[in-house]
Formats: sequence, C-alpha cells, structure tokens
Amino acid sequence: MLHGFIPPHRYFPYLTWTEIQSMPERENVVIVQPVGAIEQHGPHLPIVVDSAIAMGVLGKALEKLEADVPVYALPCLYYGKSNEHWHFPGTITLSAQTLLLVLMEVADSLYRSGFRKLIFMNAHGGQPQVIEIVARDIHQKYEDFLVFPLFTWRVPNIAKELLTQKN
Ligand SMILES: [Zn+2]
Repeated sequence: MLHGFIPPHRYFPYLTWTEIQSMPERENVVIVQPVGAIEQHGPHLPIVVDSAIAMGVLGKALEKLEADVPVYALPCLYYGKSNEHWHFPGTITLSAQTLLLVLMEVADSLYRSGFRKLIFMNAHGGQPQVIEIVARDIHQKYEDFLVFPLFTWRVPNIAKELLTQKN
C-alpha cells in the first residue's frame, strides 16, 4: 500500500528500471511530483493535511484518466517550506533553498532518464513561489523539458457544494 491514494498502475516507484527503459516515447510521458508539507493545521487536524490533499487530489484525477494516457505519480515530497508555522511543535520545514535544490535534482534525474514532461502538484500555500522559480530554472537549463507548476487549490473543486449555508 505504498501508493496510498494513487492508482497502483500509475505509481512510478512500482516500475522496474527495465520497464522504464523500454517505455515507448518516454519524452511524452508525464511525471507528476506531488509536493506537500508537514505542519500545523489547527488543533483539530493532523500535520499531514497538505501532503494528504496533494496525494488525494492527484489520485482522484489519475483515476479519471483514459488508460492510454501515459502519466505516473512520484512519491509525495512530504516536507515543504513551512517556516511560517515553525512555532507549532510538529512542524517540519525545509528552507526555500533546500526545497528548490530537491525539486531541481528530482528534475535532473528525470531528464537523465529520458523524461521531458514534469508537473509539480503543490498543495501548500507557503511555497508556490519557490515551485514557480524551480519550474522556470529547469526549463532554462533544459530547453526541451516542459515543467508545469500547479497549485491544488486552483483546480476546479466542489467545496461549495459540500458546505451548508449558515442561517
Ligand atoms: Zn500548508
């Protein structure tokens, strides 16, 4: 159950290196890196909330994809840049520089493996700026590498339908 919310056939770490090597048109395969956070979310919610949202939303989206659309999810990067929450015990944060380097080196590794399409699926409001900078830097480094920074909260959602009007 390492894949959590991700459909198992879409979970990149379940592949062998030989399966990846023999993947047809690797340059057209889309790799998604979920990026979350481990930080306070009020007294009522666990510190994993952002990471769980990243994986949950991505898992639901992947379930709806046609089988012949080649998309794989990487393991969630559970740690994000959460220094705005560090006064709360339990918050674990990377610096902006570390987050930038981790995402850059994930991208370097994917590029070396022949992939040319990468999505960062971010679910934490404290780091879209870092992720947008990384996406631009990766594309600057590799002109043929397409990198898309997404923010989970900007995808269409039904949150309004789930809330009842307070009278
Ligand atoms: Zn957050």
